[in-house]
Amino acid sequence: MSTHWLADRTRLFDSSGIRKVFDLAAKLKDPINLSIGQPNFDVPEPVRQAAIDAIQSGKNGYSVTQGIPLLREKIQTRVQQEYGHADRDAFITSGTSGGLMLALLVLLNPGEEAIVFDPCFVMYDALSSVAGAKVIHVDMYPDFRIDLDRVEAAITPRTKVIIFNSPNNPTGAVADEDIVRGMAELAAKHDIVLISDEIYRAFCYDRPFVSPAKYNPQTLVIDGFSKTYGMPGWRLGFAHGPSAIIREMIKLQQYSFVCAPHPLQWAGMAALDVDMSEHIAAYRRKRDMIVAGLADDYELQCPGGAFYAFPKAPWGTGTEFVTQAIEQHQLLVIPGGVFSRRDTHFRISYAADDRVIERGIEALRKLARRA
Ligand code: PMP
Repeated sequence: MSTHWLADRTRLFDSSGIRKVFDLAAKLKDPINLSIGQPNFDVPEPVRQAAIDAIQSGKNGYSVTQGIPLLREKIQTRVQQEYGHADRDAFITSGTSGGLMLALLVLLNPGEEAIVFDPCFVMYDALSSVAGAKVIHVDMYPDFRIDLDRVEAAITPRTKVIIFNSPNNPTGAVADEDIVRGMAELAAKHDIVLISDEIYRAFCYDRPFVSPAKYNPQTLVIDGFSKTYGMPGWRLGFAHGPSAIIREMIKLQQYSFVCAPHPLQWAGMAALDVDMSEHIAAYRRKRDMIVAGLADDYELQCPGGAFYAFPKAPWGTGTEFVTQAIEQHQLLVIPGGVFSRRDTHFRISYAADDRVIERGIEALRKLARRA
């Protein structure tokens, strides 16, 4: 088929390597699936009911672009209580992904630079290049701690944004408060917009979450409901930041997503009142299972949050190791090269039943020992 109609902007990247593992998974009978980046708990019952009620009561038209006033105000009030910034507005997006796309399109001019960390979530590189920007990677190996000197060395007069993500996908790393503060101050010093992707903020296991917005009012926060409330298919997110940026993002939303799914915004109102701490505690325990189970055979930084672990492949490249894991044990994990310029590690998602995690650990031990 002819492809000469296609513009260059999407040719710069391949389709996500995660999808390729999912395609492989579809062929397996009883896979040990530790590849999926979504919670294994369902949307809480009152939230599902609120969605049904909203649909039944006819809240099925468009909403205003920035989101229904009640949800927007509820988020705005929380943000105000947390940060108390004079110039911080919030609005409702079509998922965190929608917020990210709008943010990068309103902030990046062609030829400007976006600093991202390596490894990082797959969308940052792709969406920055769609905006025509050059992506500058700051390496996080081997311990996945941010080295502020490396960040500062990567800054040039063309740097426009830094994309920060803690708790992190794919490493599970949670940045220490002094690093969060250092990042925030660095961005302020160089007049760069710090985009903080806080989608995993509820999943912090060892200490409370800290946002760089605490230390830099210019921080643009992108957040969403997908992970916290187990509703990734509902495409509901929000963003908050300096009003000039938010205003522009809302304008672009009007010409693209139009609005976040309207009935589900009503359900989002209900979600904000649900206590998810039992689920978070269960995930902490799953994290501990993985860390203890792999301690003898793998080089692994203990992940402080999200629901991922990112061990080093004990032999071969990440891709070679994952291929063997799938072929020998029907174990699905994601090669690190999907998130990184290095193909040395692999990502485990422990958002799975305990029994699946146990089977995964057993398979991984055998793989490391080549048993
Ligand atoms: N940011 C990160 C770091 C993620 O891991 C994900 C989902 N995998 C997203 C954003 C996108 O989430 P959403 O479903 O809200 O679009």
